[in-house]
Amino acid sequence: MTTIFDKIINGTLPAEKVFENERILAIKDIHPVAPIHFLIMPKKSIRDLQSVKSEDLALIGEMVQVAQSLAVKYDIVDGYRLLTNSGPEAGQSVFHLHFHLIGGRRLTHELG
Ligand code: 5GP
Repeated sequence: MTTIFDKIINGTLPAEKVFENERILAIKDIHPVAPIHFLIMPKKSIRDLQSVKSEDLALIGEMVQVAQSLAVKYDIVDGYRLLTNSGPEAGQSVFHLHFHLIGGRRLTHELG
């Protein structure tokens, strides 16, 4: 299934990019919930976290490293959240794996 994020990755839809290499793209969320709200995604089509296979684990690790680098670059190392919604019951709305990197304000304890 082609998602909005596939179109952003292949350049047919615009997005504000904050990081890109051959494997990973990070963009600003179009509806940010905090001053920093980025979406870190693999260029490879993976539906959600539950679909990740053992051969994808290096990619997931690299996505975490990208989050760490962006946290340094955007000065949020004192506190940020890195999360993914896996599946519709968790609120996933775009079915291309992505981590939300959220920070830049005091985050509450609420997750749900
Ligand atoms: P999910 O609900 O799947 O966990 O997260 C999807 C995220 O993608 C939402 O936070 C939503 O604001 C963001 N989003 C949806 N469409 C677009 C888009 O076209 N461009 C960008 N940059 N973000 C989008």
